[in-house]
Amino acid sequence: MIAFRSTRGGGNADLRTVLQSGTAPDGGLYMPQRLPRFRREALAESAGPAELAERLLNPFFEGSLLAEALPEICRDAFACPLPLTELSPGPNGARLRLLELFHGPTAAFKDYGARFLAACLERVLAEEPASSPPLTILVATSGDTGAAVASAFSGRDKTRVVVLFPKGRISPRQEHHLGCWDDNVLSIAVSGAFDDCQRLVKRAFSSARLRGKVRLGSANSINLGRLLPQSAYHAWGAMNAPQGTNFVVPTGNLGNAFACLLAREMGAGIGRILMSTNANRAIGDYLDRGFYEGRESIGTLANAMDVGDPSNMERLQHYFGGDVARIREALAAVSISDERIQARIRQEHDRSGIVLCPHTAAGVDACHGRLSLPGAPAGDWIVAATAHPAKFESVVEPLIGTTVAPPPQLAELLSRSSSHAEIRPDLAALTPYLLRS
Ligand SMILES: *Cc1c(COP(=O)(O)O)cnc(C)c1O
Repeated sequence: MIAFRSTRGGGNADLRTVLQSGTAPDGGLYMPQRLPRFRREALAESAGPAELAERLLNPFFEGSLLAEALPEICRDAFACPLPLTELSPGPNGARLRLLELFHGPTAAFKDYGARFLAACLERVLAEEPASSPPLTILVATSGDTGAAVASAFSGRDKTRVVVLFPKGRISPRQEHHLGCWDDNVLSIAVSGAFDDCQRLVKRAFSSARLRGKVRLGSANSINLGRLLPQSAYHAWGAMNAPQGTNFVVPTGNLGNAFACLLAREMGAGIGRILMSTNANRAIGDYLDRGFYEGRESIGTLANAMDVGDPSNMERLQHYFGGDVARIREALAAVSISDERIQARIRQEHDRSGIVLCPHTAAGVDACHGRLSLPGAPAGDWIVAATAHPAKFESVVEPLIGTTVAPPPQLAELLSRSSSHAEIRPDLAALTPYLLRS
């Protein structure tokens, strides 16, 4: 049985606590006390991504109240296809492939973690007495996270979701995707910026009065219940490269990249991991200089990665005992400008006909850049394709001179009716919506 512990110390926590809380009581992030190690061949016997996820995550679930349900939870979270597609070759003819993580209900990788967490929490709550109150998941979103969480919890028993988004600052399509779910999902436009939404969430969580009346839960990306399943799709990608592979992971908050590192450390056969950020370069600067400094975030075309001070940095440092030299051995980071993102979207479309979302384009460009330097790591490369390009049509379409059709699941969401409430950015305005059951 594997226990969990905060990056800042403290006692052991069990899986149920870890899944229900975003952060540990001391403000740190939960980490497994040890990682299981697998032989690659043992993982490669899996018939599909769900079965691989089950093998990989079983040690974390053993002995918990969810142990028996794990296969079903994995089938729920890994129900959609997870294809690898061939990109145009890199410099020196290196083989480059995309791991398409965008075939879930909201067409971004966040669907996997959100669905996995929702499937876990639904079962945890089902074990409680019938009289226990429902859990209200409160999230602030600048786009992708809110839709994935709303979709994942929509229609599930004993949970409600309240999504806060900055009014008029997300795309019309994104806004639509937040308000088209079952009755247990409420979407609210806050007159303010994303930071105001986040502040409101923090205020709600720290209000003892409110928390006496409503049971609040979080589903943000630092929840280990979202990170663990993300390690499974990286491992799945690696299973499709029998000789081993390097990975490129477009990164903002360091969640997906950390999940890739976990897969590597558990024995999936992953070589080097290259993180590609947009113009927000706190991670790259840390690896270059050896000391970490969080920043204000900068707005870019790859806006789901606009993070100046990545929360999961604490996990990365903790895992390597703060030894930056050891981090450099496993991971590298490179910052890609908006101009490079645009050029790469055009170039890949010209060469292979493949349309990249801006985040994925940062990854592909980072890979090309790394391969043209001396001493590039040998072997194949897989780039995590984090979202479908149709989610960022206003960036992508002018560059390639043609429209990008939304995939069927997005088209279906767009055909539904969508609604949301509107509030000013203060807790008194939000409270009635949280109390309504
Ligand atoms: C969230 C997101 C990212 C960044 O992922 P992190 O886990 O924060 O590193 C990249 N691309 C897309 C499309 C996203 O939605």
